[in-house]
Amino acid sequence: YAKQNLRGAAVVFSQKHETELRDFGLIDQTLRSSDLEQELFILFQPQYDIVENRTISFEALARWNSPKLGLVRPDAFIKAAERSGLISQITLILLRKALAVVQDWPEHIRISFNLSTRDLRSSTAIADICEIVRDSGLDPRRIEFEITETAMLSDFDQACEALNRLKSMGCRIALDDFGSGYSSFSYIHRLPVNKIKIDRSFVVQLVKHPTAQKIIKTIIDLCKNLHLDCVIEGVETETELAKLKQVGARYIQGFLFSKPLTADGVDEYLERETGTRHSHATEA
Ligand code: C2E
Ligand code: MG
Ligand code: MG
Ligand code: MG
Repeated sequence: YAKQNLRGAAVVFSQKHETELRDFGLIDQTLRSSDLEQELFILFQPQYDIVENRTISFEALARWNSPKLGLVRPDAFIKAAERSGLISQITLILLRKALAVVQDWPEHIRISFNLSTRDLRSSTAIADICEIVRDSGLDPRRIEFEITETAMLSDFDQACEALNRLKSMGCRIALDDFGSGYSSFSYIHRLPVNKIKIDRSFVVQLVKHPTAQKIIKTIIDLCKNLHLDCVIEGVETETELAKLKQVGARYIQGFLFSKPLTADGVDEYLERETGTRHSHATEA
């Protein structure tokens, strides 16, 4: 699979910047005085179905190319934007940009878009999101929103209401980073979600700690019983993949398949994917 990694792959971030930019004040101040419509952009990372051998979705991952600060990772600027309240505006800019690209993709492929806690807490934000979904003209079933457990924790009922509004439009919901926080089996069946994404922290332990594989199996089985899709995040090696196959994993996201790609990178990736499938078909 490593050979599927394509040229469009993301830019490298300097270590120096990473540390400097933990300064939320600076980030926030710069965000405010920036042309975000111009400077924010999106990379796309495939979620791959190893049973059907095809990509089912691309996750939209935000990047900020600031003339002043350089390339800023989402972990830094999303948090700053959440604190200052700029996040709602940023979400809308990113969502518009992400959905514009989906038009060109094969119809079975979805877009997965990360929402922040703040987005779920504001009914205006949800209304704006719904409007962008409608304006995009896309089949809403091709749009999936990823939310984290933390987003659910702060106000469970309010978050459920927001998610149900998105679901009633036809959009799908995925629970992101499952297992990284306060995962509670007591509420999982009450969540309006279609998919669970198992956090990379489990994958990292797969090789050294045999129990990690058992835990992943348990979550995969739970998902099967609840009729939820289950994606494993952050798969980097063939060894990890082999261990995941042993326990029935089906949907995989990680550098082993592809790094986050530019929109052009996605086109090349999809050409290669359909090309490969085609040549398999003609061989048969
Ligand atoms: P996430 O939603 O859990 O996204 C997965 C992160 O893991 C991405 O980091 C991705 O580049 C990285 N990743 C994917 N495969 C691998 C792998 O094999 N190994 C390793 N080490 N990492 C892998 P990224 O792009 O830096 O995003 C970090 C987080 O920022 C995301 O975590 C998400 O919570 C947040 N984020 C990204 N884009 C947005 C956005 O548009 N809106 C909001 N609200 N949050 C966003
Ligand atoms: Mg995500
Ligand atoms: Mg995640
Ligand atoms: Mg994460």
